[in-house]
Order: sequence, then C-alpha cells, then structure tokens
Amino acid sequence: MGKITGFMEFERIEEGYQPPAERLKHYREFVIGLDDAQAKVQGARCMDCGTPFCNNGCPINNIIPDFNDLVYRGDWKNAIAVLHSTNNFPEFTGRICPAPCEAACTLNINDDPVGIKSIEHAIIDRAWAEGWVVPQPPKAKTGKKVAVVGSGPAGLAAAQQLARAGHDVTVFEKNDRIGGLLRYGIPDFKMEKWLIDRRIEQMQAEGVTFRTRVLVGALPDGSKVTNDARDAVSPEQLRAEFDAVLLCGGAEQPRDLPVPGRELDGIHFAMEFLPQQNKVNAGDKLKKQISAAGKHVVVIGGGDTGSDCVGTSNRHGAASVTQFEVMPQPPAQENKPLTWPYWPLKLRTSSSHEEGCQREFAIATKAFVGKNGKVTAVRTVHVEMKDGKLVEIPGTEKEYKADLVLLAMGFVSPIASVLDAFGVEKDARGNAKATTELVGGYATNVPKVFAAGDMRRGQSLVVWAIREGRQAARAVDEFLMGHSVLPR
Ligand SMILES: Cc1cc2nc3c(=O)[nH]c(=O)nc-3n(C[C@H](O)[C@H](O)[C@H](O)COP(=O)(O)OP(=O)(O)OC[C@H]3O[C@@H](n4cnc5c(N)ncnc54)[C@H](O)[C@@H]3O)c2cc1C
Ligand code: SF4
Repeated sequence: MGKITGFMEFERIEEGYQPPAERLKHYREFVIGLDDAQAKVQGARCMDCGTPFCNNGCPINNIIPDFNDLVYRGDWKNAIAVLHSTNNFPEFTGRICPAPCEAACTLNINDDPVGIKSIEHAIIDRAWAEGWVVPQPPKAKTGKKVAVVGSGPAGLAAAQQLARAGHDVTVFEKNDRIGGLLRYGIPDFKMEKWLIDRRIEQMQAEGVTFRTRVLVGALPDGSKVTNDARDAVSPEQLRAEFDAVLLCGGAEQPRDLPVPGRELDGIHFAMEFLPQQNKVNAGDKLKKQISAAGKHVVVIGGGDTGSDCVGTSNRHGAASVTQFEVMPQPPAQENKPLTWPYWPLKLRTSSSHEEGCQREFAIATKAFVGKNGKVTAVRTVHVEMKDGKLVEIPGTEKEYKADLVLLAMGFVSPIASVLDAFGVEKDARGNAKATTELVGGYATNVPKVFAAGDMRRGQSLVVWAIREGRQAARAVDEFLMGHSVLPR
C-alpha cells in the first residue's frame, strides 16, 4: 500500500495548466501531467483501504490501490498491466474522465482525494513512451465475424476485446474518421486526436478492420447529425454477412429549444459547431465554418458540451461568451458527510470557464430575437425552484446580445431511424432496449443484434462507454462460442 504514513505526509498535487492567455492561442492540449516523482508521491498517499470505494466509484472498476502502490514503488511496467486489465484506453480516461473515483476516495471524506486520474494519465503516457503498449493479436482465430456499428469508445473497446478473443471484427463508421465523440465533439484542447490514431494502428495490427464513411441504415431527412457517409449498408446485409452485430451508434439526437425565433440564422446545435473545429484542426478545408470570431456568443446549456463550446468560442476570438444554465447555481462545496462516496452536486468550473465566460444560472430562454433573418439577441427570464418545479420570476425578463447561439442542452436519445431499421425495441427514453445482466445482457430483441454505450444507456461518459463496450464484447463472445474468457 503506497507509504503507510503517506496520506498524512503528502499533499495532493494537481496537474498543471498552461496559463489561459497562452493556451487560448492554440487548440492543443495544455495540461502538464505529473512527472514520475510527483506521481510517486501521489501513489504514496493511497491508504489501500480494506474496502476501496474508488474501485467501485470507477465505472470500469480500475484496480486503483494496486496501481497506486506500483507507481509508488516505481514498477511502472506492472502498473500499466494492472491498468490495462480493466481499461482499454487509459490515455482517454486519464485526460477526460471526470474521475468519479476521486469523489469516492476515502481520503476525500476529510482531505483532498488521491489524484487517481493524474496517476492513470502518467502511467499510460509512460507506457507508450517506453514502447510497452504493443498489439496483442489472438493466438487462435474463431472464424466468427462480428460487425460493430459506431467507432466511439464503446465500439472501440468492444472491437478490441472481440478481436483479442479471435473474432474477425469490422467496425462501420459513418464519419470520415474513427473515434465517435472522441474525434468529433470533444475539443482537441481536451484530447488530441493522434491518441486515437495510435490506438487504431494497434487495433489494426490485432486484426480489426475499420470501414469509414459507411452509414448503416439511414438518417432522417434534414438530419444535422455529423455524417460523412458515401456508402450505406442495410441492417439485412449486416445480419446476413456477420455472425453478430453490436450497435454502438451513440446518442446523437440533440435536445432542441423550440421557442419563437428558433429558425433565425446564427443558432446552431453544439454538435454542428464543435466537429467543424475538430476537422479544421485535422487540416481539412471546410467550405464554410461556423465562426465565433468577433461575435457575442450565447451558449445554452451548462454542462460539458456547453463548456467545450465556451473554450472553442474563446479560441475563435469571440467578443463575449455567456453560458446559460436553467438550474440554480449549485453550492461551491458539497456536504461531504451527505454525499460521499457518490458524485456530488457542486459548482464545477472548467478550464474553459477560466478562460473567460459569464455564467448565468436559473435562467430560461423565452425567445430568440432577430433582424433580417439573423439572431441578434436572446430573450430570457430568471426562474426559481418551487415545489420541485422551475417557475418564472416576474419582472426578471432580460435580453442578451447574441450573434451566435449554441444549443448545448444534451442529447435526448439515439437516432431512432437507425434502431428502427434493425427493428430494435426501444426503452421509454428511446434508447436501444437491452439489459446489462450477466446472462443475456446487451442482447436486443432482434436475434444476434446487441447494443452498448450511449446507444443503450443514453448520453453518458467515455468511461461508461468503455465499460459497456467491454461487457458487450463478453456477451457477444459468449453468444458466439457458448463461453467466454473475456473479463466483464
Ligand atoms: C461535446 C462533448 C463533450 C464531451 N466531453 C466528455 C468528457 O470530457 N468526458 C467524458 O467522459 N465524456 C464526455 N462526453 C460524453 C462522451 O463523449 C460519450 O458519452 C461517449 O463518447 C459515448 O460513446 P459511444 O461509443 O457510446 O458513442 P459515440 O462516441 O457517440 O460514438 C458513436 C459513433 O457511432 C457512429 N454512428 C452512429 N450511427 C451510425 C450508423 N447508423 N452507421 C455508422 N456509424 C454510426 C457515429 O458517427 C459515432 O462516431 C462528451 C460529449 C460531447 C457531445
Ligand atoms: S477511468 Fe475515470 S473513474 Fe476510473 S480510475 Fe480513471 S479517472 Fe477514475
């Protein structure tokens, strides 16, 4: 266990950030990870609790006390072996996971939690640098063919597990590059995209085939979802050609705001805006890019996607950026005895907020105001919680100047037409209906069709998508072979 007295001797060390004025000039990552000595000190703080709540707080159940101890002892090679035993892609989670493990850390009850995410980040970056991350092709092939639809973290984790189990895996992706929201959505300044390319190379060497620009099924007319497809395959073709199909198409249907003026120019979904910048960063020449340069930007939605719009707008050179959140401002500090070891509700200030943003809470949008067909302002009212409902506060109506409005209010469900084309039953929220049971989990009502990730659980996190991809891979393997040695 790290150092027995480590938690009393050492403080938590935060990863460093480039100062805002510098990082705003570019779209690259700006987090300065821990060096080996700092990571070792962090590892020493771990108490190796009898019941490691962190391990349970982590959706993929990373074996955190073990890798903390190994890093403390300088045994980085075994640390990455432990980390990879539960997580296919620690370089993604080590950068962009909100770290529910740290909320659950026992030290977090009356001290600062162990910097688990920063240790994870340090282990995987060192492992790649040392050349320890290599392809793991299967020892024997099964002759079974699996199609994975969607190349986000769920599809990638599943594909890697299934290929390592010996199956021939083909990943179908409608976009021009692999990665799902990791590629198109999450800004490069949070996670650079060569990290995905490096994993794709590893997976190709393990036998995974990637087919980009191929849409499985169809999208509804006028859909604004990112789609670079040039070819289409039908669900019937996939089911005829493959022994199993795993749907990992994400939850791409954005929540709209149908208030008066919604049709005005200059109002876009976040997922129209953010992928364009990812593409420009990748060197693509776009015919037209939604630009925030010199504009008064209003971002509607107080979550991660909204925060990513704030960071991207500031890098464009916006004149001002204001972010609306309909819920009241949460407390700065959680009530730990009440919330630990769960994820607490508290005010979270992201690095993008620190770069410049006016944040408005308890505010609802009544209408968009425009001139000559273009948005010029957002009409709002403040709201308060009464009897569990948000009600308008009379006399608080206001207008915010806006030349660009970005709608970042989350995602309601997967695209229904894709599930409908397969005949997959949906749950009450419109997600693919499938359980996570040990037996029969991830199977839909359609024979040999499975579903995982945001497409099954609804809008969520990268770490949950990895979990679902891994567990679904085991379910598919069991379905194909009658048994599986893949971990859940
Ligand atoms: C802007 C933004 C920022 C986020 N930031 C974070 C963060 O910092 N940390 C975090 O943990 N989570 C974050 N999330 C959430 C996280 O990205 C998702 O929960 C996660 O990517 C879901 O993984 P997935 O594999 O289920 O689906 P996705 O990543 O959505 O991938 C689905 C893929 O399937 C493809 N696809 C869909 N339908 C078809 C079809 N019919 N044919 C072919 N291909 C198809 C899509 O093109 C897409 O590439 C963010 C989400 C957004 C939108
Ligand atoms: S994946 Fe996320 S929750 Fe799990 S250990 Fe890493 S940072 Fe913590």
